[in-house]
Amino acid sequence: MTQIIPFVSEASQDERREWRDALPEALADIAVVKPFDTLTEEERVAARVAIVANPDPAQVAALPNLVWVQSLWAGVERLVTELPADGPLIVRLTDPQMAETMSEAVLAWTLYLHRDMPRYMAQQREGTWKGHTLLLPEERTVGVLGLGKLGSAAAQRLKSNGFRVLGWSRSPKSVDGIDCFHGAEGLTAVLAQTDISVLLMPLTAETHDLIGPSQLAQMKPGAALINFARGPIINETALLKALNEGPVGHAILDVFNEEPLPAGHPFWSHEKVTVLPHISAPTITSTASKIVAENIAHFFADGTIPPSVDRERGY
Ligand code: NAP
Repeated sequence: MTQIIPFVSEASQDERREWRDALPEALADIAVVKPFDTLTEEERVAARVAIVANPDPAQVAALPNLVWVQSLWAGVERLVTELPADGPLIVRLTDPQMAETMSEAVLAWTLYLHRDMPRYMAQQREGTWKGHTLLLPEERTVGVLGLGKLGSAAAQRLKSNGFRVLGWSRSPKSVDGIDCFHGAEGLTAVLAQTDISVLLMPLTAETHDLIGPSQLAQMKPGAALINFARGPIINETALLKALNEGPVGHAILDVFNEEPLPAGHPFWSHEKVTVLPHISAPTITSTASKIVAENIAHFFADGTIPPSVDRERGY
């Protein structure tokens, strides 16, 4: 019997169009992918796995026999809060290409800060011709907060570029060439030493507002922050204060409490903030579809479900 895989998504029209082409192609030999609103009652009842991207939870609930859902995103904070704890298992997207893309973004923006680009851009606006002391990468310490699939790849890429790299995670970890810290004391130690802190952990109950007034106060004078994780991990009000009054020298923000960043938000025009429109590591449809297809093929072959999110931990 042909297997039907529901595709449940409230993502943008453009994103859905892209997936509606890529998924059926990647899964052609395995199953038929059908958008939720085209499913028959019989197909809804029969579905044991669905592919989701920002789904309406009511539509997921309308698939009563789901065993697991395959997310098309790496961050699953919305699924964790919106799907019932006794609902289907949540499998997030883990794509080696995404780790590559993210580590490239981390290196690019670290180099942007390392080579004083914000300062030279400000000087150009003023018509000022003035060079500043060039530090070597090994004289610059970069802290990577979150040492998972993306953070550990980024940390190693920074290391191979010559930076001194510190890492921080929830549980003790060891990553080749990186000084690793964990727990609350570890965060204090990392923040106190780093010139550039890169956020790459998931948004959970524990990491919400993790970087607030006291953590920002622990940073070195002039230190920079790069947030490629999720907006609510940094307290925006505290960050604005730390940018205006010290110690934070510059913030590169790809993610925000509200996206798109609302018109008139102080970050848009702040001279010490670089605003990016959530582009550090987008899901690449071509590679992600193949991974999704492999996961689903294994499930149909022998019932294997890929590692799923720990609902208690939130990631
Ligand atoms: P992952 O493999 O699950 O790794 C998460 C890391 O964060 C782990 O090292 C984990 O520690 C650490 N962590 C979790 N909670 C923590 C806490 N309370 N204190 C300290 N460390 C904590 O996740 P990933 O694939 O690397 O992705 C990380 C996040 O990047 C995603 O959740 C997503 O939000 C974000 N992301 C953003 C974009 C973008 O375009 N901006 C793209 C993709 C992903 P342990 O090692 O101890 O478990």
